[in-house]
Amino acid sequence: MSSPAATETHCPYCALQCGMTLSQDIDGRWAVAGRDFPTNKGGLCRKGWTAAALLDAPDRLTTPLVRDVKGGALRPAGWDEALDRIAAGIRAIQAAHGRDAMAVFGGGGLTNEKAYLLGKFARIALGTANIDYNGRFCMASAAAAGIRAFGIDRGLPFPLEDIAGAGAILIVGGNPAETMPPIMQYFDEQRRRGGHFIVADPRRTPTADQADLHLQLAPGTDAALAIGLLHVVVRDNLVDRDFVARRTTGFEEVRRIAMAYWPDRVERITGVPAALIERAAHMLGEAASAMLLSARGPEQQRHGVDNTLALINLALAIGAPGRPHGGWGCLTGQGNGQGGREHGQKADQLPGYRKIDNPKHRAEIAAIWGVAPDSLPGPGLSASELLGALGPEGGVRGLFVMASNILVSAPDTDRLRGAVDTLDLLVVADAFLSETAAAADIVLPVAQWAEEDGTMTNLEGRVIRRAKAKDPPPGVSTDGAILSALAGRLGAGAHFPGETAEQTFAELRRASAGGVADYAGISFARIAAEDGVFWPCPTAEHPGTQRPFLETFATDDGRARFHAVRHGEPAELPDEAYPFYLTTGRVLAHYQSGAQSRRVPELHAAQPEPFVEIHPEAARTLAIVDAEIVRVSTRRGTAELRARYSHAIRMDTLFVPFHWGGRGNANILTSNSALDPVSRIPEFKICAAQLTKMAAADASDISRERTTA
Ligand code: SF4
Repeated sequence: MSSPAATETHCPYCALQCGMTLSQDIDGRWAVAGRDFPTNKGGLCRKGWTAAALLDAPDRLTTPLVRDVKGGALRPAGWDEALDRIAAGIRAIQAAHGRDAMAVFGGGGLTNEKAYLLGKFARIALGTANIDYNGRFCMASAAAAGIRAFGIDRGLPFPLEDIAGAGAILIVGGNPAETMPPIMQYFDEQRRRGGHFIVADPRRTPTADQADLHLQLAPGTDAALAIGLLHVVVRDNLVDRDFVARRTTGFEEVRRIAMAYWPDRVERITGVPAALIERAAHMLGEAASAMLLSARGPEQQRHGVDNTLALINLALAIGAPGRPHGGWGCLTGQGNGQGGREHGQKADQLPGYRKIDNPKHRAEIAAIWGVAPDSLPGPGLSASELLGALGPEGGVRGLFVMASNILVSAPDTDRLRGAVDTLDLLVVADAFLSETAAAADIVLPVAQWAEEDGTMTNLEGRVIRRAKAKDPPPGVSTDGAILSALAGRLGAGAHFPGETAEQTFAELRRASAGGVADYAGISFARIAAEDGVFWPCPTAEHPGTQRPFLETFATDDGRARFHAVRHGEPAELPDEAYPFYLTTGRVLAHYQSGAQSRRVPELHAAQPEPFVEIHPEAARTLAIVDAEIVRVSTRRGTAELRARYSHAIRMDTLFVPFHWGGRGNANILTSNSALDPVSRIPEFKICAAQLTKMAAADASDISRERTTA
C-alpha cells in the first residue's frame, strides 16, 4: 500500500513507461516504488528505481542563464530579461533573414501536450517551417516503413501481453534486456511456454544470450538476412498463401527477388551460417504465431526503411499480422517516441498524424487554431538537414531547443559544435546544464517529469498519464508556460492561453479528431479508469484499438503492401585506413545522451565512463590491452575511450555506447550525411573506424581525469 501522499505516475525514461509510485520519506527525500501496471507488472529497471534522485539533484537549474557576449560566461538572469532577450533575438533574426531562419528542435521525451504546443508555437508564433525533433534519430525508419506497409505508424500494433503467447519471436537489432529490462518477463514467459526466441545482432547482447538462436550478422546486412529468411520460407512452402491472397498486395515481385538470396549467398553477405538461416526460417514459418520485432539496429541506417520493409515482407509472407500473438512491431525507444511523432513537432506533419502539405489537413488544423490555412508554413527541414543548415551558410540563424541534448545525441558532433557557435541565438530549455545548454546564449530552467502533469504514448500505442507529484523548485517554469510567455511577446499570445495539461489535451483531442492518430475519445478520466487507452480512439464510447491489424490494415483497400526491396550497402565499409565496423548503442545504466542518468549517483557508479568494446583477438593484433585508454577515429573525428575486451562482439566490429559528451562522445565518430532517403535517419549504426594505441602519458592523464570526475 502506498502512503496517502504517494502519487501513481510513470518513469521519466524509456517507451515502456513503467508504472511507479513516487512518495516522500519523513526526511523529505523522494523515493520510487514499482507499481502494478500492465507494461511492467511492478518491475522496474535500475534507471527507474533511482529516478527520484533527479528530483533532488544538486545541480538542478533554478534560474534563467544568459550570455552577454559570444565566448563569455553564462550569468543568472530574471525571467523577464531572459524572455525579452529571446523575443528580441527572434524578431531580429526573422526581420533580417526571414521566418525560416529561426528553427525549433524538440524531443521524443516531451509529453503529448508539449509536443503539440511546440508544433503549434513554431507554425503560429514563429511562422517557421523549420521544426523537427530528435525522434527523427530514433524511430523514423520504422514509422515510415509502417505507414508504407500498413497505412499507419503504430510502433507495436498489439499489447505486450501478446508476446508471451507467440510461438516464435525474432528480434532484429534490439537489446531490451538492457534497454527496458522489465519487458523481458514477457519474453521469459514466451520461452517457458515453449516458444522459440531468435535474436539477430552483431553483438551477443544480454538479450541474444537468452535466445535459442543468435544470428550474429555483420552490421548493415539486415535486409539480406530478412530476404534470405524469406527465401527459405518460399522454397520450403512455409508461405501463408491464404493470408497473402486475402490481405496483401505485391507478393509476387518480392518472391522473385527473394529467390536470388539463397542461404549460401546470404551467409557470404551477412556472416550468418546458412544452417542457422534455415533453422530460423523454419522456426518462424512453422510456428502457430510469429512475432517479428525491429529496433534501432536495422533502422538507424541509410537503408533503414528498406531494412524494416524487408522484415515486414517476411512477417507478411508467413501471415504473422493476421494471427493472435503475431505480427510485426517496432520496439520504440524514447519515453514518448510514439506520441512525440503524432502531434506536430515533425517537419512534415500536423497534429493527428496529418500531413502539412495536404490542403484538407491544413484547413482542419487551421480551423482548430483559429488561423488562415495559408498562414501555416509548409514542410521544413528534417532533423539532420536542419542541424546541417545551422549558421550563415545554411541559413538557419537561430535555434530553440526543448528537451534535447543535440551536442551529444546528433551525428558528427564536432562539426555541429562549430555550427552552433556561429548561431545568432541558441536557446535551450532544460532542467540541467546539459552539454547543449552549456553552449547556449540563453538557458531556461524547466520542470522535470514528476513536477507537471501530462500524457505520454508508450511503445504499445497506449496513452497514459504521467501525473504530477510535486511542485517544481522556486524559479523554475514549465515548457508550456515558456511557450505561452514567448508567444505573448511575439504577438501570438491569444493562441497560447497557458492552460493546464488537461485543457491542452482537450485541444489536442479536437485537433487529432479524424486524423490517423485519433485521440478524440481519450480523456484523463478514461486513462485512469482503464490503465491507459490505445489509439486510435475516435469517440468516448470507442474501446480504443489494441490490435489494429487483426482484421484489416489502414491502407485505402485494407490490404498490407509488400515492398520490393533488396540488400544495399552502408555508406562506409571497412577499408585499409579504417578497418573496423563501428556500431553504437546503449548500456543498462544510462539513457540516451545521459543528461539525466549521468547525474544519478548509482547509475554513474555502475558505468562511470565511455568505452569501446572490442574482441580480444582483434585488440591483441593492435597490442591494445584491456582497460587502457585508446583512440577511435573515423573520417569525422577522434574519440578517446577505454578499451573493453569482449568475446560477445564480432572480430571486425567495435561497439561504443553514446551516453557521454566530451572526447568520449560516440557521435564525434558518426556521420551526418549518410541519411535514409525516406525517413532521413542518419546511419548511426555503421561507419568505418580505426583504433589506435595512445601514448602512455596521454592515456593516463585522460584515465585520471575520468576516474576522478
Ligand atoms: Fe521501465 Fe524504461 Fe523506466 Fe527502466 S527506464 S524503469 S524499463 S520505463
